[in-house]
Amino acid sequence: MGTKSDLLRIGAEIAAFLLAATCAGCEEPGVLLCSRCRGALVPRPQVGATPRGMPFRAAIPFEGVAARCIRRLKGEGATFLARPLGAMLESVLLPDVTPMTWVVPVPTARKAFRRRGYRVPELLVRRAHAEPQRVLRLVAGTVDQRGLGAQDRETNVRGSMRARRRTEGAEAVIVDDVVTTGATLDEAARALEAAGFRVVAAVALAATPHRAGFG
Ligand SMILES: [Zn+2]
Repeated sequence: MGTKSDLLRIGAEIAAFLLAATCAGCEEPGVLLCSRCRGALVPRPQVGATPRGMPFRAAIPFEGVAARCIRRLKGEGATFLARPLGAMLESVLLPDVTPMTWVVPVPTARKAFRRRGYRVPELLVRRAHAEPQRVLRLVAGTVDQRGLGAQDRETNVRGSMRARRRTEGAEAVIVDDVVTTGATLDEAARALEAAGFRVVAAVALAATPHRAGFG
């Protein structure tokens, strides 16, 4: 049974936590996400194409409030942000998902999973009210994509994924958190198609604006 003093103690802990917090979108102190930034998290769908010419849709450009929130989710353990961000993903994911569709997040490197304790694309898919299927895995020896240029990313990612199972003609939608060049989506599509899947769409939460090969 909780006593009144327990409740006061918990209340004080929450208050201390909020005092130390700053808004994920604008650094305003005392809140996790202020109402202005929450209001800025509305979908602005983007279309693009991968280096191999596969079209994809993203819910928002990777900039401003959304980009800062995504960085907090990916880098600082702010999993509560998966809810508003997942709601945006839902707007571009849902049109392509039927009860027969496999919703396949791009795989997360083991190191990144150990650092965070969660897989970002998979968490976003759940918050978008879809069921993620962990079909793809990374082949050992893949280098982290961060810090690589467009050409190096493409070379680095090629052959880096494998499907855990084969199927004949099952429909798959690939989901990533942030699309930079689209090379990761291409590799996910290659690995799925090699295992018999039919990739019907590729979607992302955000896409880097004004990048080479976009449009
Ligand atoms: Zn804010």
